[in-house]
Amino acid sequence: MFIDGCFWHGCPVHGRKSFNHNADYWPSKIAANMARDKNTTEELRRSGWTVLRFWEHEDAEKVVEAIRNVVTASTSPP
Ligand SMILES: [Zn+2]
Repeated sequence: MFIDGCFWHGCPVHGRKSFNHNADYWPSKIAANMARDKNTTEELRRSGWTVLRFWEHEDAEKVVEAIRNVVTASTSPP
């Protein structure tokens, strides 16, 4: 699983849309991070992994619950 930083990975809630400094640098940097995240997720899923991604701002208990649900579903007998 991954916990993505809101700033670095372009969170829809906290990601910045404009930058006062290095206005050319940050949007492309963050866009590259997001594209890499997507590729990583897709590659792992193709290899049979269950990929869970959460945002830095998400409630920890909900994240734990989501993980538990996935683990329970994949380990319980059919
Ligand atoms: Zn966020």
